[in-house]
Amino acid sequence: MNKDLDKKVPLLEVRDLETAFKIDGQYHNAVDKVSFTVDRGKIVGVVGESGCGKSVMSLSIMKLLPKGAGEILGGEVIFDGKNIEHLSEKEMNKIRGKDISMIFQEPMTSLNPVFTIGYQIEEVLHNHFNISKQDARNQSIKLLKSVGISRAEQVVNEYPHQLSGGMRQRVMIAMAIACQPKLLIADEPTTALDVTVQAQILDLLKDVQSVNDMAIILITHDLGVVAEICDEVIVMYAGEIVERSDVRSLFKNPKHPYTQQLMNSIPKLDAEEEKLGSIKGIVPSLKEMPRVGCKFANRCPKAMPECTEITPVLAEDEKGHEVSCLLFEASKTEEGTKIT
Ligand code: SF4
Repeated sequence: MNKDLDKKVPLLEVRDLETAFKIDGQYHNAVDKVSFTVDRGKIVGVVGESGCGKSVMSLSIMKLLPKGAGEILGGEVIFDGKNIEHLSEKEMNKIRGKDISMIFQEPMTSLNPVFTIGYQIEEVLHNHFNISKQDARNQSIKLLKSVGISRAEQVVNEYPHQLSGGMRQRVMIAMAIACQPKLLIADEPTTALDVTVQAQILDLLKDVQSVNDMAIILITHDLGVVAEICDEVIVMYAGEIVERSDVRSLFKNPKHPYTQQLMNSIPKLDAEEEKLGSIKGIVPSLKEMPRVGCKFANRCPKAMPECTEITPVLAEDEKGHEVSCLLFEASKTEEGTKIT
């Protein structure tokens, strides 16, 4: 493909993705017609509380939903020009690890406790490249050094339990970038780490992103993390995108009441007295999810009577900031909003 054209086509395009769980014989959508794009070399944050569908969405993109746990009912995922929903498991395995990699909150769930770190990184390299044992070992050491592990020559011979949580996450990042993927999906990569190590891992992600010109989807419940490294942000609530924009505009002017509430729960260093807002109630369970109206209505401080009767749709302002809220629709109607 022509390089300039290549830059203009999004790396990932998710269209109307719908993933459901079957409960008592009925399908309930955990991801409800979600559409978005990720451009090459960009970091897109996906933010929301637990149970908002962020992780199910990323597992659906990777076609990694555990068998019987969820089913993709509709939509398309176009990665680098290919509709990956149509690929066989064998073809998908070639893409996973090589073109798209994933890292999780707890590296111990992904690292095998009975194999050395070196063996596990080398296995990734052997799976995707025709490479000698010695070259794979040298490459593993180089990768570990690139993620800030200075005693890489020793670490290749160590087992995961011999490393700290932060070191294990660095190893996971080394494994994830081993094949120089075009897209890295990082699911709560810093949540299990203490604050100082969290900041180091975020810096590292930023560095590996710019060195490798990768795109990253960063899934987090923490808007502070989004502010730190993302270019764009998607706010999810109850399986739907409720707000989407570039990071600067979201932080300057959050429009959806859910995003505003999430913002209130970020600690502010300059606040005279620390007063964190918390969002009352919890995300409704899949079985309790309202079928009509706004899914946030029972927790929204700005809810109006019509919010339980009319379902809001994602609408875009003139700057491309998208919001799904009746208040936003009302404020935009006279200006001729484009409904997406
Ligand atoms: Fe709140 Fe109504 Fe907007 Fe939903 S549609 S976020 S309930 S104001």
